[in-house]
Parts: sequence; structure tokens; C-alpha cells
Amino acid sequence: MTTTNMGLDDSGMTIEPVDKASVEKVNLLGMSEDKLAAFFEGQGEKRFRVKQVMQWVHQRGVIDFDAMSDLSKALRAKLAELAEIKLPELVSEQVSEDGTRKWLVRVTAGSCIEMVFIPEGNRGTLCVSSQIGCALDCSFCATGKQGFNRDLSAAEIIGQLWIAAKSLDSLDPTKDRVISNVVLMGMGEPLLNFDNVVDAMNLMMHDCAYGLSKRRVTLSTAGVVPALDKLGDVTDVSLAISLHAPNDELRNQLVPLNRKYPIAELLRSAQGYLAKLPDKRRKITVEYTLMREINDRPEHARELAALLVDTPCKINLIPFNPFDQSDYQRVSNNALYRFRDILIEAGYTVTLRTTRGDDIDAACGQLAGQVNDRTKRSQRYRQQQDQGLEAVRIIPA
Ligand code: SF4
Repeated sequence: MTTTNMGLDDSGMTIEPVDKASVEKVNLLGMSEDKLAAFFEGQGEKRFRVKQVMQWVHQRGVIDFDAMSDLSKALRAKLAELAEIKLPELVSEQVSEDGTRKWLVRVTAGSCIEMVFIPEGNRGTLCVSSQIGCALDCSFCATGKQGFNRDLSAAEIIGQLWIAAKSLDSLDPTKDRVISNVVLMGMGEPLLNFDNVVDAMNLMMHDCAYGLSKRRVTLSTAGVVPALDKLGDVTDVSLAISLHAPNDELRNQLVPLNRKYPIAELLRSAQGYLAKLPDKRRKITVEYTLMREINDRPEHARELAALLVDTPCKINLIPFNPFDQSDYQRVSNNALYRFRDILIEAGYTVTLRTTRGDDIDAACGQLAGQVNDRTKRSQRYRQQQDQGLEAVRIIPA
């Protein structure tokens, strides 16, 4: 005989009678407060249970319902029957000589993603992924060469923070945070996985979860303009845009998405995001990866300075980190400092991202994980290499 019970639909919001024997357990890990409330209310439980469970999972690192001692025995038994806290599977952890850490986690058969923790003085930044691989195929990006498999669920995104925080003993919000900042700059384009990314970011900032401030959670986008136009309606996290070129001709080749959403549209959308934030002093971060004799000339710096004149921003310069399958080269130090100085003279705040974790392939742009590629792109790149063809589009200097 089968029994009937209540369950969640795909969105996690609607409670309907379901056949218990035929239903998978509901993963509570990535659920927003509202979705958890719908789940508990569907079980006839009070809403305050939501905060209790969130604190057990995200602040104490407890995933066994039986250990959640302020829940009644009956509720613990019911949760064990209907639900689970399912994390991605940790495959390996590496520590660089400079303290950078990299974790490889399996999210689905044949596919792993990577996340990186970078300690710097009294701050520590965790870089997490939003998709398995990436469909956008930027020509300088190791992830892009791996092809694309699927979006990560909210549980798989927040699970990266859970694993890293547990490993670094950084879950308890009453203690000094080892992980003080989270950036969505790992594998994938976050705005192409909008709902799951927003749910995960909301958990990062929730007082009963990780409690990070909105300034310390950063979403980085290559410029999916329609989604960026909506983002300011649902969140106020920090925004970074991956620009990498001062004009459309060059950016079309480095970031193919630019052919669909050119620079002017992207900047208009980013300015619109800032305009929706209550604090008018906030700025976006413009990410600019410098590649030797591709986009590192003084005229590129001057063009960039003129381009950004109406966009409240700071500029982060990232020396390109070479990887197999790419013929681009790292910018020279002379060109890097010359580029920076031109921007500073034009009045911009400029940061240089130092290369970290190089010895464990954790440097920016080197994250590749292991993608069960559904696009066949990785296969195409390998064939190009086997035939001695250029694996990337090189733009003549
Ligand atoms: S740079 Fe970002 S958007 Fe471009 S292919 Fe890599 S992960 Fe995707």
C-alpha cells in the first residue's frame, strides 16, 4: 500500500498531494526562505521552523535532520522521510604555496566544477561557479573551451560556499569570517541561470544563513543585457562587467556575446542597475583582462577611459593567465603599468589583480573543471589543435 503526502512542484512553491512512494526527497539546501516556508507550511508546520533549519544547515554545517536538536522528534522523522540536505560531492582540495585553495566538486556524472578561495590580508574571497561549463565561448577563457553541460541548481551554487566555509571553519557568523566575500566569477555566465543565482545570492546574504553584506557578494557578467535590466528589481549585490575591450570591433572577437549586446547597450544597462540602487555612491567594477598586443596598447587605455566617462566604476586589470588551447600571451609588465597609469591619470580608481594560485591552476581564467560537454565545442577545439590550427581567434596587433 502506498501513502499520499504533500510535495513541491518544479518551482518549489506549490504544494500538491503526491504519491510518497514515487517521489524523490526534496533537497532543502538551496531553498530560499519563501520556498522553505512553502515546504514547512505544506507539512502543517509553523514558519519559524524555516529559520531554525536554515541556521542548522548554513551556520552550523549540520545536514543530518536527526542532529537538529531544537526540532521535535516527530518533525525530524518527517523531514528524514521527505527531505534531504544534498551537497555536491567533494572530489579534491588543493592548497597553493600562496594560501590559495581550490576545490573540485562533482555535480553530475562526468562533470565537475571548481571553486577557489583567495586570502588577502584581512579579507578572503571565494570564487564560485554558476554553470557546468559556459555556452558563451569567450576566446581567452579556459571554461569557454570546455563547452557547456547545464545550469547549476541553487543548491549546487550555495553548496560550493557551504563546502568551502566548512573546510575553512568559516560558517559561524559570530566569529571572524575567513570567507568575507563571494564572487560569481567561476565557470559559467550567472545571468543565464538567473533564478537559481538569485536564490543562491539571497542565501549568501540572509541573516539566518551566511549573512554577507550586499557589497561583499559580486555578480560578474559578460553582458546578458535583458537579464541585467531585470537584476536590479530583485537584488542589490555588487555588479562587475567583463568588458576586456574598449570598442565593439575588438570585443566582438574576444566576447562573442557582444555581437548580440554591444558595449553601448551593456553600459546603458549597467548604469540602469546602479540607478535602481538606493545608495547612489555605489559603482560597478569593470573587468579588463590584458593580453599581449591584443588589447594592451596605450590607445586602448585612452579609448577605455573615454568610453567609461559616464559610468560610475572602478577598473580591475587582470593580466591574462595562459593555458593550453590558447595562443594569447600574458601582458608585459611595462604594458600593464603603462595601461594602468593612463587610466589613473584619467581619474579612475584602478586595481591590478595579482596572479594567485598559479601552481594549482587556480589563477583567474584557468578554472576548467571537467565538463561533460553537450555542445561538442571541446571536441572541436581538440581537433583544431590536433590539426595544428589555431585554437583561438587571434586578432592581429
Ligand atoms: S569568460 Fe565568463 S562568460 Fe566568457 S566563456 Fe568564460 S565563463 Fe563564459
